[in-house]
Amino acid sequence: MSKRYDYSLYGKEPSKGGGSGMLLPAILFVIVLLLALILYKVATREPDETPSTIRRTTTVRGTDMDGTGSEASGKHVYDEEPTTTEDPNRIQILNDEPEPTRVGEFLKRWPADSAIENLHDARGLMESLGGRPDGPTALQGVTVILDPGHGGIDGGTVYPASPPHTHIEKDIVLDLARRTRAVLEGRGAEVVMTRDSDEWFSIYHRAAQAGQLILDRTRAALAGTPKTTDWLDEMDQYMAHIRSLNQDRGGGSVIGGAGTQRQARELYDLQRQYPEVIFLSLHINSFTDPAVGGLQVYYLTNESYYNYEAVTVGGPDPNMKPVYQNYDSDARYNLAMAVVNTLSIDVPETKTVGGPQPLISDRGFVVLKCMGLNTVLVEVGYMTNPDDRVRLQDPAYLDRLAAALGRSVYQYFCQ
Ligand SMILES: [Zn+2]
Repeated sequence: MSKRYDYSLYGKEPSKGGGSGMLLPAILFVIVLLLALILYKVATREPDETPSTIRRTTTVRGTDMDGTGSEASGKHVYDEEPTTTEDPNRIQILNDEPEPTRVGEFLKRWPADSAIENLHDARGLMESLGGRPDGPTALQGVTVILDPGHGGIDGGTVYPASPPHTHIEKDIVLDLARRTRAVLEGRGAEVVMTRDSDEWFSIYHRAAQAGQLILDRTRAALAGTPKTTDWLDEMDQYMAHIRSLNQDRGGGSVIGGAGTQRQARELYDLQRQYPEVIFLSLHINSFTDPAVGGLQVYYLTNESYYNYEAVTVGGPDPNMKPVYQNYDSDARYNLAMAVVNTLSIDVPETKTVGGPQPLISDRGFVVLKCMGLNTVLVEVGYMTNPDDRVRLQDPAYLDRLAAALGRSVYQYFCQ
């Protein structure tokens, strides 16, 4: 039986009849259809990354050709509706006005203190960690998020350049992360891996995992108190959305783009209340000159992040959001130094050779800028350096690196 009319396109049965009597209704129908199409185009002219259930919408476009997820060329549209109400049971948003642009500068800053009321007090724990003797309970209370870079379709840096590859970054850093997890758990730390299989997650997905961890902990801590969780619910949705996008480019949602969106700032400020949680991203470097080798450790402070954005953006942009300025810069520096110092003693082969410095703070990597946790990105060697490459294939060497990374976390918290 032939199908004369597809009802699914129109949703109703067409009226019977035909001939010249149908001409006017047909013309009217076409006009209505065109109007509807125009209205639809207008309503969807921005590629909206944000699910409709999220009240404060944000649209971020652009690219991050440098791999840092900076999306500096993007346009940003967000409304300024604050979350604060007079209800004391709601999570209170404080200080939500950006600082005015300073003389001689073109970027605004968020205030260097918290937008979120204090919901987690880690002072007692942090004090109790100081001076603890090394041993199986030294890092009890500490959480380390281990982030083995790349995975799945993204091998990271490989050798040789053409397949078959004998050395693949994603596999080596996953192996190293698992060994490091064992070392840290041996000191009583809780370890969370951003991936524990050959699966690819975007850089934003990884930052969103770190966001979700803190949201979950805060929700658990508030259970049984009169606090309402509207703000946490909203943040949960942003994190779920970023994970569902799972894109390096344009996948940042509220944590993407140049500068820092209001919601991201609030999330980072909550994360800042959890100094016992750190984020450690593991990678392997590459460079054109095979003589360059050894360790490189990347970190980001308030000033280095501000300068990074200023250089990346290059000039005034009316849509530019203020720059986040409430990282614990000292702690981030100390964490990076703990890694450099410990590895230089325990694994002297990681000594940086061929020119570059081991400590770098001018790169706006997503896993450094898109969280309020203390975070560091460690390139444990160069795939392009023959000595590093041979060592990184040796399980015994990976064990030594893992032991040193574990000791650097102990140094950071306890020494
Ligand atoms: Zn990498």
